[in-house]
Amino acid sequence: PVHLVWLRHDLRVYDNQALYTACSAAAHDKGIVLALFIATPQSWNAHQMAPLRQDLLRRRVQAMQTELAALNIPLLAVEGSDYASCEPLIAALLPLGVKALYAQVEYELREQRRDQQVSILLAQQGVAAHWFDRLCIMPPGSIRTQQGEIYKVFTPFKRNWLQRLASDGIQCYPKPALQPEHSLLLPALPPMQAPDQSSGHWPVSEAEILTRMRNFCQQRVSAYQQERDFPAIAGTSQLSPYLAIGGVSAQQCVARLQLEANEAMWQEKSGAAVWLSELIWRDFYKHILVAFPHLIKHRAFQAETDLIRWPNEQARFAAWCRGETGYPIVDAAMRQLNQTGWMHNRLRMITASFLVKDLHIDWRWGEQYFMSKLLDGDFAANNGGWQWAASTGTDAAPYFRIFNPVTQSERFDPNGDFIRQFVPELSAKTGKDLHWPHRLVTPKGYVKPIVDHNEARKQTLALFAAVKGK
Ligand code: FAD
Repeated sequence: PVHLVWLRHDLRVYDNQALYTACSAAAHDKGIVLALFIATPQSWNAHQMAPLRQDLLRRRVQAMQTELAALNIPLLAVEGSDYASCEPLIAALLPLGVKALYAQVEYELREQRRDQQVSILLAQQGVAAHWFDRLCIMPPGSIRTQQGEIYKVFTPFKRNWLQRLASDGIQCYPKPALQPEHSLLLPALPPMQAPDQSSGHWPVSEAEILTRMRNFCQQRVSAYQQERDFPAIAGTSQLSPYLAIGGVSAQQCVARLQLEANEAMWQEKSGAAVWLSELIWRDFYKHILVAFPHLIKHRAFQAETDLIRWPNEQARFAAWCRGETGYPIVDAAMRQLNQTGWMHNRLRMITASFLVKDLHIDWRWGEQYFMSKLLDGDFAANNGGWQWAASTGTDAAPYFRIFNPVTQSERFDPNGDFIRQFVPELSAKTGKDLHWPHRLVTPKGYVKPIVDHNEARKQTLALFAAVKGK
């Protein structure tokens, strides 16, 4: 019998429950484990998945083929088109003698529809299906108030989450054992297209990903609290692209953190505790998404904010996308995103707030643009981040709290090193002149500010007040 592991966003050998369970089952019935990945570029593009992120996925799949081959597990990487192409491709494998399929669930709507189609096929053909829910550290729905409700606010969610961690601990699955040699003849399906290597500066072997994670937990996490807000410093783990494709699991991060910094992890405000908190945010937004699926349909969590009439000026949006707003920190951040596919968290907050509350553009425009560029694009985290910044979400910043991009810049890029790196037009500027270069005359080659922050702020308050009835 063949045990088929359908890999999607769990592209790792260690701590892969689907893979591990399939190997255990194969050990019992002397079966063969076959892994499968289906590239679905049409659906990825429909979700605005960034080309860089698609490249990272394909490169990681190739690396995993080698890693699994060392365990005698073939990984069949197939080129599909959209999600509807998955069902016939899986159907084509069933005659190999597939006894069961193993996969990790996904929470978004179209992904669920894809999996339902496949489940129906498997049921019709008498093939067992095993779905595992390990995208979050604590499964969605498992952290609830005393009244059994879902938390809509982060702090009590986190308190409950930490209690759960203290009582249940964390479980990771080991690397599966070497499988016996096999002589499986695979059907000729269209092979996955080769990656274009655009994400090439991000290593993709599991060993390198795990080393990055371990090094961060060993050497840098203790300074995380002090350094994490400064984009000129590499003070964060930069693991998000890997967490997004499952090259490493969040469970592995917590297990390693516990090993390296167990005591600090429980001390509020220590680097380890604050980093753990970020991983809890990751869980939080996924739990919210599962509990309130209307978020997937581009609705605001706070329904009344959907009534705001955003002016949505195209030219302003285009200037923001290009990093030509005349606000140096915003421009540097947007250029970092455009050039590298990654953006520091502090800058994501600043640029998101700027788009909505200074340029008065619907947060969904920005959410979509981020998705189309981010290497770590993740629906729940991106949607949660945007709704937080736009003050439309669950645990949102109150709408009257509006970032001042110039003071944010002075505070979080005090020497201007980050700005100078991405805005060469300002390389000769220092001090206050760098954060606001328009005091006397805008330097040659740099853009004049496209809005006045104080004016824009007043308009934002009016836009919100109109729908909040205040
Ligand atoms: P670290 O600081 O090392 O944190 C470790 C991990 O915790 C991250 O890799 C990430 O998986 C998780 N995490 C950290 N902060 C958050 C958060 N606020 N919400 C949810 N998870 C978090 N993160 C994404 O992974 N994908 C996105 O598409 C995304 N879009 C965002 C959009 C906006 C407007 C904002 C404000 C934030 C967004 N974030 C997103 C969250 C955060 O900015 C990134 O996770 C972080 O910058 C990644 O860098 P890192 O791996 O060095 O993070």
